[in-house]
Amino acid sequence: MKGRLYAVKSIFALLIVCALMGMFYMNQRKGTAQNPVLDSVMTLEEALEGLHPDCPKEIKNQQVLIDVTYYGLDQLIHQGQIVLDRDLRQDIKHVFQIMLKERFPLASVIPVSDPKFRSDRIWDDELSMAQNNTSGFNYRFITGQKKISEHALGHAIDINPLFNPYIKGALVLPTKAVYDMNQSGTLYKGHPVVETFKSLGWTWGGDWVSLKDYQHFEKEIL
Ligand SMILES: [Zn+2]
Repeated sequence: MKGRLYAVKSIFALLIVCALMGMFYMNQRKGTAQNPVLDSVMTLEEALEGLHPDCPKEIKNQQVLIDVTYYGLDQLIHQGQIVLDRDLRQDIKHVFQIMLKERFPLASVIPVSDPKFRSDRIWDDELSMAQNNTSGFNYRFITGQKKISEHALGHAIDINPLFNPYIKGALVLPTKAVYDMNQSGTLYKGHPVVETFKSLGWTWGGDWVSLKDYQHFEKEIL
């Protein structure tokens, strides 16, 4: 009888050890909702470091750093950050929830102040686009014009630029981009991500006629 009790106790102890090891392993595993791969862990100050000196204070003070969770191209869950106007925070949180639910993959979501998106210390949107990075605020001109863009106000976001290029006649940006609707992470008319943005009052560059900017969404704030 004693031996049997001992055996039961031993099995019980073994089960507890296995359960603990399982929990430990789950916690260690990267790329889950509980333990996402960390792509960006900046402070707001770091995210705005190197900002164009012409940027007015009122615009700079409107910007916030938003932590976002997303499904990566590697099929793991990632955490990144995006800088946008504080009045758009709720919209962006909502859209990222939909993207995660739809398993719409994003290459990365990292502020353009990251050293890998700089040339001569200046924030370089072309480098960010070429690396398929999703980004928001950037005090810069509209592509090909001398007017500041909605990005300069933190009122616009570019999503997976390499899959969703800017196309104007023969000009394609980023230069190596190919627009292929079968590539996951690509936006097109009727896509749930496009529809979600539109339902929140955002304009999509894929609807424009004189040029197409499939990566681009913007919202006017009154
Ligand atoms: Zn844009």
